[in-house]
Amino acid sequence: MINAFAAFEAKGELRPFEYEPGPLKPDEVEIDVQYCGICHSDLSVIDNEWGMTQYPVVPGHEVVGKIADVGVSVNHLTVGQSVGLGWHAGYCNECTPCRSGDHNLCANAQATIIGHHGGFAEKVRATANSVIPIPEGVELESAGPLFCGGITVFNPLVQFDIKPTDKVAVIGIGGLGHMALMFLNAWGCEVTAFTSSEAKREAALRLGAHHTLNSRDEQEIQTAAGYFDMIISTVNVKLDWNRFLGTLKPRGRLHFVGATLEPLDIGVFSLIGGQRSISGSPVGSPSTIARMLEFASLHNIKPVIEKFSFNAINEAISRLRNGKALYRIVLYR
Ligand code: NAP
Ligand code: ZN
Repeated sequence: MINAFAAFEAKGELRPFEYEPGPLKPDEVEIDVQYCGICHSDLSVIDNEWGMTQYPVVPGHEVVGKIADVGVSVNHLTVGQSVGLGWHAGYCNECTPCRSGDHNLCANAQATIIGHHGGFAEKVRATANSVIPIPEGVELESAGPLFCGGITVFNPLVQFDIKPTDKVAVIGIGGLGHMALMFLNAWGCEVTAFTSSEAKREAALRLGAHHTLNSRDEQEIQTAAGYFDMIISTVNVKLDWNRFLGTLKPRGRLHFVGATLEPLDIGVFSLIGGQRSISGSPVGSPSTIARMLEFASLHNIKPVIEKFSFNAINEAISRLRNGKALYRIVLYR
């Protein structure tokens, strides 16, 4: 039996939950969970905001732990090895995206916490190619958030060939946004943080931003008209997107990783006139996660975390719900 914490209804508190995982499949591994970050997507799944939750749901998809057991056909991971597991716990491995190395774009990928029990537990299982070894030089207790939040903001830099001479803005300095500032600064870019929290402005500068602007202040946004090559939005709320489009250079890109539920209301003329783009992306592929870990190790990039014991899981979740987390909460055993 695996001891876990589950939500049994939308917005419900997490309670202890035991499940029988059955025999380990040949291509699976079992991980002893040591740490697990709490991502805003865990809240969205607990609350069934995306309409796809299956209760009881064991959230947790920023897992760090040690391999406890490997299936008979797993050759590249060994018992005792330190690994991480993120949003995906398996891929079809056969579709064109999988064959092209774009596993994160696989339409049949298995999400770690939808129809599968996640990492708020003593153990979690996943197919071996979604589990990534953690290299030397990456601190284990703060590594969990890299496996979902971190890769989600690192992947666009790779996908869109961001250059050190680019001016890039990040909207929302929460779990994802604070890691975006660190990655972009190390990438060599000129970095602007858009935050709605005046209290975060100083910290954003320490995290790697060169400038800060208020994401809810029309006039401040306006001062950056025509300035950015790319904007990465990590917020889950509706903002004045047309005003943000106006801060892009011609050919600039407004890229969404935050799961804003309200449809985007975009005036098409600023797209046409400046040949600007709007896009979105999910997490990153296993090979991009491995590249990110090497980059984080080289540049000593560590998520800024607040630690809570698994026994204080509901307290930790309400802190994130209330927007108080600075900047990512990690549960430890
Ligand atoms: P988070 O830690 O809660 O951060 C969200 C940030 O958004 C907040 O810190 C805040 O930043 C800003 N924000 C919140 N309410 C706002 C408001 N009313 N007005 C303006 N700004 C507001 O969440 P997270 O874990 O970083 O996740 C962010 C989003 O990304 C979620 O929707 C999550 O589901 C999604 N996500 C997507 C992927 C993907 O693959 N695409 C992966 C992981 C997460 P300031 O205080 O600086 O304003
Ligand atoms: Zn996540």
